Amino acid sequence: MNWKKEIENLKAYQPGKTIDDVKKLYGLKSIVKLSSNENPFGFSPRVQEYLNKADFSYSIYPDGYAKKLRSSISEHLNVSEKQIILGNGSDEIIQIISRGLLQRGTNTVMPSPTFPQYKHNAVIEGAEVKEVVLNEGGRHDLAKMLEAIDENTTVVWLCSPNNPSGEYIREDELINFLDQVPSHVLTVLDEAYFEYVTASDYYDSVELVQKYPRLLVTRTFSKAYGLAGLRVGYGIANEHIISKLEPLREPFNNNIVAQGAAAAALTDQEFIKKCRIENRKGMEMYYDLCREKGLRYFPSQANFIVIDFGIDGDEVFQYLLSKGYIVRSGKALGYPTTVRITIGTLEQNTGLIDTIRSFLDSNN
Ligand SMILES: *Cc1c(COP(=O)(O)O)cnc(C)c1O
Repeated sequence: MNWKKEIENLKAYQPGKTIDDVKKLYGLKSIVKLSSNENPFGFSPRVQEYLNKADFSYSIYPDGYAKKLRSSISEHLNVSEKQIILGNGSDEIIQIISRGLLQRGTNTVMPSPTFPQYKHNAVIEGAEVKEVVLNEGGRHDLAKMLEAIDENTTVVWLCSPNNPSGEYIREDELINFLDQVPSHVLTVLDEAYFEYVTASDYYDSVELVQKYPRLLVTRTFSKAYGLAGLRVGYGIANEHIISKLEPLREPFNNNIVAQGAAAAALTDQEFIKKCRIENRKGMEMYYDLCREKGLRYFPSQANFIVIDFGIDGDEVFQYLLSKGYIVRSGKALGYPTTVRITIGTLEQNTGLIDTIRSFLDSNN
């Protein structure tokens, strides 16, 4: 068969060990999974109420326009329904954008390290990938990213707060960047962790979408809203951009359950606020540990933190795994001497921090 040559060396997404695998392997009774930036508090009780009451007609196709969810998001953000594209996770929005704008002969600019799906999709489409390394502080080097843009660039990816560094783009830098991006380029700003941001100088990206016609912002119900398993994400942009992207999505890309559950989740902003506050408290616990132990870390506006242990990240990962804590080794994330930890509940954070202390003590 004649497969696209672009996909020759692609690897399928490697899921981490499951909780059951780890239990068996180490003979542990309970496992704490802090590796995928899921919400440790689950989701809003309003979602559960909705699910308990709902009477789904599984034999009928879902609403392909997702009218109810679309209008909920539109009201929540005060943008028109025509400025929204819904995806099966924001992963699908990334795929749709790539499908529409990337092909052989084009190139795309992105920070590094960052969320791997921008590059993965660009490779499938045959576009050249231009990666611009983050600065030492884990922040986008927007000046270099601007320099990397040429006449064949079609998409620039920004991720703020960035996965994995957790750092965010400053407002003045972002505006300066948007003012200079050439008019043939779409700028995508991935805000998967938007709901966790507490920095007082964070920008209003929805306002920026209204001002910049070639800016698209992506958000998701997978992180703070706690609905990763239902797969709902969305993009917000100028109507013209959305009208170009809409025909590229699958007609029924959000299932019946997901549409209603996401709409219910949106009504409970108190839950989001509580998660944001608890997340910040947890984050401070890790900052305190790092300061006390002299470990380097990136200040994070997301729900995870990258901590530098100065040794192979896999070694730290293995130790924590053997004690029942699943985190991510930074080795596959571009920071080989670190691990990335999702902020958990108070109990989970306390337990993991104690375990990290034992690790550091045993290594001294
Ligand atoms: C988790 C994550 C996503 C993907 O979210 P889904 O909506 O679940 O597909 C997108 N971007 C970043 C930066 C993420 O960390």
